[in-house]
Amino acid sequence: MAALCNCGFRGCLEVFASGTGIARMMKEQLALNNTDISKDIIIETVTSESVFELYQQGNQMAISVIETMLNALSFGIVNLIHTFNPTTLILGGGVMKNGGWILASVKERVARIGLRSMIDPVHIFRAKLGSDSGLIGAAYQSFVYKNQLMHSEGIE
Ligand SMILES: [Zn+2]
Repeated sequence: MAALCNCGFRGCLEVFASGTGIARMMKEQLALNNTDISKDIIIETVTSESVFELYQQGNQMAISVIETMLNALSFGIVNLIHTFNPTTLILGGGVMKNGGWILASVKERVARIGLRSMIDPVHIFRAKLGSDSGLIGAAYQSFVYKNQLMHSEGIE
């Protein structure tokens, strides 16, 4: 059974393609497989940042977790593109700050698994505002909605 998401459902993209998801998957792997390569890792101290460090050092468990994240994110993006046919996708959040290699890897996977006619025209970027993108976007939307509401009610 897929992991429980903060929203109450199971198996959401958030469960696999988020910082908390990366840390959770690594902790689960460590609890299941107490192997020599991971014996010096203290489960309680695992964060997504430490998983990315282990990934860069070639730790097989971290590589497996990051591969799962990259595949989940790529399939999620392909599903979005196939459903909504967007022209542009902007990826934000803390995970994306770990370097352009994530974007490059996701783009390569998306191109491999998606329908070419739908995938090829889509531009995929990293958010310039980094991990604050969602917060700033939500705040911006409150001004947009407020202005629309005031306009519809004739308030200037
Ligand atoms: Zn969810």
